Amino acid sequence: MDKALKWLIRARKADAPHVLLIYTGGTFGMAYDAAGQRVPMPLSDLKLRVPELKQLACHLSIYTFEKLIDSADIAPIHWQGIGRLLNEHYYRYDGFVILHGTDTMAYTASALSYMMQGIQKAVVLTGAQVPIGHMCSDAKENLLLSLRIAAEQHEQQKGISRVPGISIYFRERLMRGNRATKVSTEALDAFRSPNYPLLAQIQSHIVYFDERIQAHYAQKSHLRYVDGFDTNILSVNFFPGCSVASLQEAVSAAAPRALILHTYGTGNIVQSNEWVTFLKEQIAQGRLVFNQSQCLYAHVRAAYSSGRHLAEIGVISTGELTQEAALVKIMFLLAQHPDPKGMKAAFVQPIAGEGQVAATND
Ligand code: ASP
Repeated sequence: MDKALKWLIRARKADAPHVLLIYTGGTFGMAYDAAGQRVPMPLSDLKLRVPELKQLACHLSIYTFEKLIDSADIAPIHWQGIGRLLNEHYYRYDGFVILHGTDTMAYTASALSYMMQGIQKAVVLTGAQVPIGHMCSDAKENLLLSLRIAAEQHEQQKGISRVPGISIYFRERLMRGNRATKVSTEALDAFRSPNYPLLAQIQSHIVYFDERIQAHYAQKSHLRYVDGFDTNILSVNFFPGCSVASLQEAVSAAAPRALILHTYGTGNIVQSNEWVTFLKEQIAQGRLVFNQSQCLYAHVRAAYSSGRHLAEIGVISTGELTQEAALVKIMFLLAQHPDPKGMKAAFVQPIAGEGQVAATND
């Protein structure tokens, strides 16, 4: 990942917190060129377009991807690039903001949450639905509030942020990063946190919910940086009439290490011996099979016989995890655990407040 570090703003008070802004691309900085094509805004425009940056009580530096990208082009190599950058600069800055496209922001947030274990500083991801400079743009508000949150320090403990860990700020809501998901292509409040309450909310001021913030970070004090992802996964969306044969073909062609089944409701699929036999075979061959609900507000549990038989044959429930948090956790743990047993045992343990996963049958 090519990148360049620039100073942007020095705060009036010399002892103000230092925040590093990492600019990766996305809709946030899109502008139109003379031919009417969408092109990324030059960095020099940021100070002009957001004069309020000067009012922030923090020093601001910026790293930009040399080539700003749509977040659909983000891959694990970029997560690692960002993670290494955060790790390298961890002790130099008091907080971090990542400007990122919205489409895959929740995947990046989940990945960073697993990579930056024990983190005590704020890393806030944000972006925009409407590019900066447009009449109804949400870009400025999202950026300024994210910077304020990232700069906020714990009142009593030096070197600790008010909101430690990876979060997503979007339209008046601060969410735990690995609990958030994009729910709208149009609305400015594009993200939700289905199974965890907000960490902070904007009213006429920022209202922080300290207990929720501290729930997963209070005990840990040292950063442990871990990276590596294995993308050898096949993800399948169940639908009425979905055939074993087509999946069999895909599995034979791809030979994935893990299979994610996107099931109905609390984790249900059609009750058929054909499916049970197929899935049992996969597990017997050492493949990990996961049960993830298609519902947004979901908790996969064996509530019906159409889901219970999956748990009984060793399919692993993703519990209350969002799709993004579950998928990235699987990629992350596959890279660390060559054996399915170790991987399965690791999967049921929360890493960074991503949520509970039901215990599995062995
Ligand atoms: N396609 C864009 C991206 O994810 C959308 C956005 O930023 O809102 O980069």
